[in-house]
Amino acid sequence: MVGDQAHGFVGIGGDAPVSVQSMTSGYTWDIDKCVAEIHKLAAAGADIVRVAVPERKDTEALKEILPRVSVPIVADVHFHFQRALEAIEAGIHKIRLNPGNISDHAQVRDVIQACKARKIPIRVGVNEGSIIERKDKQRRMKELGGVFSDAKHGHLLAIMIAKLEEYLEIFQAEDFHDIVISAKSIDPELVVAAYREISARFDYPLHLGVTHAGPKETGTIRSVVPLGHLLCSGIGDTIRLSYANDPVYEVEDGLELLYVLGLRQRIGAELIACPTCGRIQVDLFKLVQDVRKALAKEISVPMKVAVMGCVVNGPGECEGADIAIFAGDRKGIIYVQGERVANVPEDEILSRLLIECRQFEQKVKSGQAKLGEKKVDILPPDPIGTVGSGWEKIEKDRRQLPVVK
Ligand code: SF4
Repeated sequence: MVGDQAHGFVGIGGDAPVSVQSMTSGYTWDIDKCVAEIHKLAAAGADIVRVAVPERKDTEALKEILPRVSVPIVADVHFHFQRALEAIEAGIHKIRLNPGNISDHAQVRDVIQACKARKIPIRVGVNEGSIIERKDKQRRMKELGGVFSDAKHGHLLAIMIAKLEEYLEIFQAEDFHDIVISAKSIDPELVVAAYREISARFDYPLHLGVTHAGPKETGTIRSVVPLGHLLCSGIGDTIRLSYANDPVYEVEDGLELLYVLGLRQRIGAELIACPTCGRIQVDLFKLVQDVRKALAKEISVPMKVAVMGCVVNGPGECEGADIAIFAGDRKGIIYVQGERVANVPEDEILSRLLIECRQFEQKVKSGQAKLGEKKVDILPPDPIGTVGSGWEKIEKDRRQLPVVK
């Protein structure tokens, strides 16, 4: 459990839902900016926020930052174990230690004892990039290389596991078990292999992540493929995506990953949209972005909203949507739970759609409507005429459906 009364408690492991973490990108000593960034991440949905504390002035700043924020804060400690002790003194909620750069047993023991006294958990976070002592890399790789020689990057995996085992012995000797483990790499395959291995070897909650995943444009795939794979196998208790970008994206994408995997109850609307094709007759990409931003700002119930370019494939593609709009010739036809409620010109689609979403939200909140319930099947308009229209096509497809016994 991470946190306190003032910042809330976030469970990691056991029956707790998988949590989403992120990290501030600015200087912790720059107090106002740091507080603002933590607020921004919390507003985006971050359950826990980590801050870097490389210098004494950073841990000093924690005393002013902590009373001004509302989520549990983790101090990210590297090289200087004193920063951990100072952060604990300042009231931090969790410490992250890197076995690759704080290895002195006496120093680690000091941090463990201070955390024990305050009931603060510690993440033992090994990273591929900092795990190998550069000076004896060749010797270490030779010693450990055989252990996982059949796996890709077997040497690195062996070193990461060995380092974790060595480090955790210090914690076991101190009878300290309030631990979260991570073993990150930039290589998605190594991430999957490492977490599979540590989940089999250790009985501690796991913090999943692909370290230094790069710009969001490519880092998303690099991150969500291995993390999704692990989470689908039941591995992982808290996640952090690491983009070279505004960390708000890390939170948004982390939450979306958990939503689509059914590991978290969605907060706010879910937006479905078609990719468009040669049938499109409105500026759908702009409309989708406008709808996305407005829904994120205004809607708090997990209604499904579908924005479709036309009636040909739209009805099937938006099956299950509470609110749907099908675009036609510079117009949009809006449905609420299957019932056609409006036919508006293109420049009124957004505002009318939002009116319907707000009204539907109120109905859900007051119990007059139920999410996911359709009153009638969507009957799309016939935009072309008789032959070849969307409805004709749908009817034809229905007739051709095979009978499944
Ligand atoms: Fe094309 Fe219509 Fe499907 Fe959108 S809904 S991709 S416009 S067929």
